[in-house]
Amino acid sequence: MTDYLIRGIEKNGKFKFAGVKTTDIVNEARNLHDTSATASAALGRTLSAAELMSTQLKNPTDKLTLQVMGNGPAGEILVTVNKDGDIKGYIQNPSADLPTNEKGKLDVSGIVGNTGYIQTIMDLGLKEPYIGQSEIISGEIAEDIANYYLSSEQVNSAVGLGVLVDTDLSIINSGGYIISLLPDANNEDILKLEKSIVGKPSVTEMMNQYEDFEDIFKFLLEDFELEILERKEIRWNCNCSKERIEEMLATIGKEELRTIIDEDEKAEVVCQFCNTSYTIEKNELEDIYKSIEK
Ligand SMILES: [Zn+2]
Repeated sequence: MTDYLIRGIEKNGKFKFAGVKTTDIVNEARNLHDTSATASAALGRTLSAAELMSTQLKNPTDKLTLQVMGNGPAGEILVTVNKDGDIKGYIQNPSADLPTNEKGKLDVSGIVGNTGYIQTIMDLGLKEPYIGQSEIISGEIAEDIANYYLSSEQVNSAVGLGVLVDTDLSIINSGGYIISLLPDANNEDILKLEKSIVGKPSVTEMMNQYEDFEDIFKFLLEDFELEILERKEIRWNCNCSKERIEEMLATIGKEELRTIIDEDEKAEVVCQFCNTSYTIEKNELEDIYKSIEK
């Protein structure tokens, strides 16, 4: 089954929820970036988180960028998603890896680091993008996303993210969920919700157990009546092209471009999201140079 996102609401409006399956997306990211098992998990969790956050986008051209900037060996993790669920991302050091932690799990916080920040940039087609930031509190990413919503938007949420990596480094399954309290929720509802979630298996265990996220939510939130509002396909999609690279070169400034033409005679540009390499020849660079002069 292809990757998808579903979102819904508790029937009495106590909380909303969203879930994503990102197995194909994370496999694609792994193939393109040749990530270690731990780096696949760190990048994969960030990809799932960004898809879950994309439910905030309203218009087709809106997009959201999620950046995880920890002090660990993974370096920067950056993911961009649009309203349609097209997603791309990279991890600065794809070979970052560590032995499994004391629980026998991939040590995601070990490579991400336990200090630093999480930043979201939401381009909603307005003059200025919306930028939100919060501190990294664990480096496991799920807790950090929950903390982001609490500290930047005062929303209480429960977030689960998981990536299960096979011994041949392929991705067995990847996904996540977010459950966010709505203003109508009272203390009793919150306790009931906690009781329902606590002790439930991890995301990847539930994905092994249940075919679909609708069933995962029925199990995870068994004490509540749920209504699914939307279900859509999502996919890896890097929209880079030679044309876009040329547009980018037209913005670096005339002097800089002249230096490249005179010294390098061509430009080699590698897309950091998909590793596609573009060569812009000297005559093409001269055309770009002339277009700026106009
Ligand atoms: Zn690309």
